[in-house]
Amino acid sequence: MAEAVRIDGKAAAAELRASVGGCVADLKARHGVTPGLAVVLVGDDPASQVYVRNKGKATHEAGMASFEFRLSAGATQAEVLAQVAALNADAAVDGVLVQLPLPGHIDETAIIDATDPEKDVDGLHVANIGRLVTGRPALVPCTPSGCMVLIRKHVPDLVGKRAIVVGRSHLVGKPIAQLLLAAHCTVTIAHSRTRDLAGECRRADILIAAVGKPEMIRGDWIKPGATVIDVGINRVPGEGGKSKLVGDVAFDEAVSVAGAITPVPGGVGPMTIASLLRNTLIAACRRRGLADPDV
Ligand code: NDP
Repeated sequence: MAEAVRIDGKAAAAELRASVGGCVADLKARHGVTPGLAVVLVGDDPASQVYVRNKGKATHEAGMASFEFRLSAGATQAEVLAQVAALNADAAVDGVLVQLPLPGHIDETAIIDATDPEKDVDGLHVANIGRLVTGRPALVPCTPSGCMVLIRKHVPDLVGKRAIVVGRSHLVGKPIAQLLLAAHCTVTIAHSRTRDLAGECRRADILIAAVGKPEMIRGDWIKPGATVIDVGINRVPGEGGKSKLVGDVAFDEAVSVAGAITPVPGGVGPMTIASLLRNTLIAACRRRGLADPDV
């Protein structure tokens, strides 16, 4: 059997970012609106600093305004809430994103609950989750919506397809399952208590891995020809004492069974920031009563 098509997340993300940039230029020209994204970083976690820097750069490149607010690791919950309230009230800000994870003394749910749902570009507020589940216009979590872009490119007709989502987090697994359900797939959600996970996976035309366990999903768990979307990002020891990134799927085994598969890195990862820009653009339009952009 031929090797699987490698799904190029970098190219798809570049395409989405360019499309968002075009809509932003149009919004400016026709309505004098520049969408703005505000990112709040609490503490000095190195990975979060990299994410925030990359988000700021991508926001500028798309022609949007980028605002960054840094609070010390010792900031109190009241201080973070005050920052969120200020951004909720700021007309120049269309998207508010508090970089997760937050230091342990801060209640993440309280911060998410305090974010204006119309500016909740991470799509984590219960109002947006409720809208997603009930099929109303929502701001959808970024990684799941990025996965759907990749899936649709390779499986244009999703109706009636069997999909399995391995992982049930609020951030990834559950929203992806909702999006697949809305696209008329027959969806199984698997998790750490699922019996015969390999057997469940083998039935799926579309397999989404969002577990956080390096190469847990083996090649012989995959239905021949299936589309495999690997959300996992795991750092493991590599050659020469260096570390490397691997997904939740054993890529070298899966590539000879699947029909299409995302590599790690270069698959789902790049779609997340592109989807964040898309959400910010959507929020900017909806807040002004304009039609959703065609991106
Ligand atoms: P969580 O840790 O929040 O959730 C992991 C899920 O996997 C849980 O539902 C858990 O089940 C399930 N699980 C754990 N072990 C097993 C097992 N042995 N068999 C079946 N299911 C299992 O992780 P996230 O959803 O936040 O992230 C998942 C992965 O995606 C991580 O590697 C993360 O780094 C990556 N990620 C990548 C992003 C990107 O931009 N590409 C963005 C966000 C995340 P249970 O609920 O029963 O505990």
